[in-house]
Amino acid sequence: MSKSPAAYIDAHSGDLVARLQQLVGISTVNPPGINYASITSYLVHELQAVGLKARRLPIPAAKAKKVLPRNQHDYPRYNVLGQLAVRGAKKTIHFNAHYDVVPVSGSWRHGSPFSGAVSGGWIYGRGTADMKGSIASLLLALQALKATKTAPKLNVEVSFTADEETDSLLGAGWLVENAPIKPDYAIVMEGGEGDQICCGHNGVVWLEVTVHGRAAHGSTPEEGINALEKMSALILALDEYKAKLAKQTFTTPDGTVMRPTMNLGGVFSSGEGGKINTVPALARFSIDRRVLAVETVDQAETDLRAFLTAAAKKIPQCKISIAKVSDNHPCYSAPEGAFFSAMAGCLKRVRRKPPVYSVSAGFNDMHFFSHHLKIPTLGYGPGGEDIHAINERAKLTELTRAAKIYSDLLTTFEG
Ligand SMILES: [Zn+2]
Repeated sequence: MSKSPAAYIDAHSGDLVARLQQLVGISTVNPPGINYASITSYLVHELQAVGLKARRLPIPAAKAKKVLPRNQHDYPRYNVLGQLAVRGAKKTIHFNAHYDVVPVSGSWRHGSPFSGAVSGGWIYGRGTADMKGSIASLLLALQALKATKTAPKLNVEVSFTADEETDSLLGAGWLVENAPIKPDYAIVMEGGEGDQICCGHNGVVWLEVTVHGRAAHGSTPEEGINALEKMSALILALDEYKAKLAKQTFTTPDGTVMRPTMNLGGVFSSGEGGKINTVPALARFSIDRRVLAVETVDQAETDLRAFLTAAAKKIPQCKISIAKVSDNHPCYSAPEGAFFSAMAGCLKRVRRKPPVYSVSAGFNDMHFFSHHLKIPTLGYGPGGEDIHAINERAKLTELTRAAKIYSDLLTTFEG
């Protein structure tokens, strides 16, 4: 008698660990984005091995040069696309993971952060939790379906994308605009884990505010306009804006009350020519404004710019200019409808507990599918501990559970 996919997954968890060790062993630290060529050829090979048509989608060098900072021009970018057309299937589900990881530092419990050491039910290494573990879980799910000759009920698309740890512009951002994909539903395999299904995330607007003063000799400060002093007054004026943001709330489906936030001066500087005996002619600070899942970045930016302009006007001789550094859309899919209830059923069967629906304060690549493609999108993966930190690790039982949840969804949900 042939096994069920779930039994197959239990019997082959060693394959998952071996693949994850391979993936972790190919360091894809970003920035600058190393070894993208080798990891994407490995991923294409593995997708083909589990029965998908797969290929690498290179980013044209001219396009990469326009987007990447100069010191990354020698690091080519690729995304991977796998496709499985299922006879009779009407809808298509898309699984996405990013394969880049953040840089490493410090001394790790089990030697190299790229070893993939297994200890006490955990696998250690950069990317085990964020998010090469998700890739390994999905590959085992697909392998289980192939080996047990269990056909998915939907067409399957899989993308493994670059650069999520920087800005995703040549990764998921490029994919949704350029790749031949046509998904009806998307799972970004991070953001939710355990009994939490992520149904959205905050967005962000990053601005840079420059205060223009006038230089003068430090012995005659009255002849200049001190940009730092003007900036200080402006920063204090922003307290009123913070208070306004604190009154704005969004209650997520799991009952969490979220508020927009603002971080001032993550980067601040005096311009060139700053000297102890010179009145500063320029002062510059950054604003990191987190946008609720149900707000829009455009509105948030317009509103904040208007406040800054008005506040500067009230400060004598305070001249400012505002530049946008970047933004990221928030997203939210109300956890209703067949997709979310199918996923809830999978979690209940595999984890024996009903899920809760969360909204993530940080952002991931979900918005490219939810906001740009306007399809129901959820975030779910095996997750882990110490993400972006020393001793990042993923739990073996969660990795196999995620594999079972993905294979269960593919065989029970028709769309
Ligand atoms: Zn991630």
